[in-house]
Amino acid sequence: MDCSYCGSDLAAYEPLVVEREVDGDRVQEGVFCNYACLSARIDDAELTSGEACVWTPDE
Ligand SMILES: [Zn+2]
Repeated sequence: MDCSYCGSDLAAYEPLVVEREVDGDRVQEGVFCNYACLSARIDDAELTSGEACVWTPDE
């Protein structure tokens, strides 16, 4: 298994496995060699700026 972000061989690490739930099923989002890669991957994918975080002050 390789890191989803940097491609490092995870045999040398305690991999961080990220899963999310889609329609009740757990889907593996990625595996990462450390939190830096996880954080970078989140920034790249803009996972923090999706529709779930849209602020709608008129409601
Ligand atoms: Zn990595």
